[in-house]
Amino acid sequence: MQPETVPTSQEIARRLADFETACRRRGLRVTQQRRAIFRTVAVSRQHPSAESVWKTVRKQTSNLSLDTVYRTLAALEQMGLLVRVGTPEKERFDADMRSHAHFICNICGEVYDIFPPEIPCHIQTGPLACGKTQRVNIQFKGICNRCRH
Ligand SMILES: [Zn+2]
Ligand SMILES: [Zn+2]
Repeated sequence: MQPETVPTSQEIARRLADFETACRRRGLRVTQQRRAIFRTVAVSRQHPSAESVWKTVRKQTSNLSLDTVYRTLAALEQMGLLVRVGTPEKERFDADMRSHAHFICNICGEVYDIFPPEIPCHIQTGPLACGKTQRVNIQFKGICNRCRH
């Protein structure tokens, strides 16, 4: 794994600050629950699923339903704080908004980050005939080294 794929404590602090700014801008309260859900995704390198976020946050917050986790993740996605990656059957969440691509293993479902220079993902997104690009989503599918061996 490349070192830049590991979120440093500085990077995590930046993500949490972005989260609080985005909540305030939308008049959303920064509740413990919301913060815990976002933080679980923000500190992870694993692109956790909603279920895995739920299992982690449930330990700290009683009465947390999986449905609440889904709704909170969808709201955070709308706020531009995280993105959905993976496939519809195996949805995962990523709070790393830096330009990067993903490699998804067809066997184990693991989602790997790919950063430049391994592949150039700084695609110039100037105005297109059909609209303005907000995000470029590049996904590779294949068999990861762990599953190949
Ligand atoms: Zn694999
Ligand atoms: Zn990622």
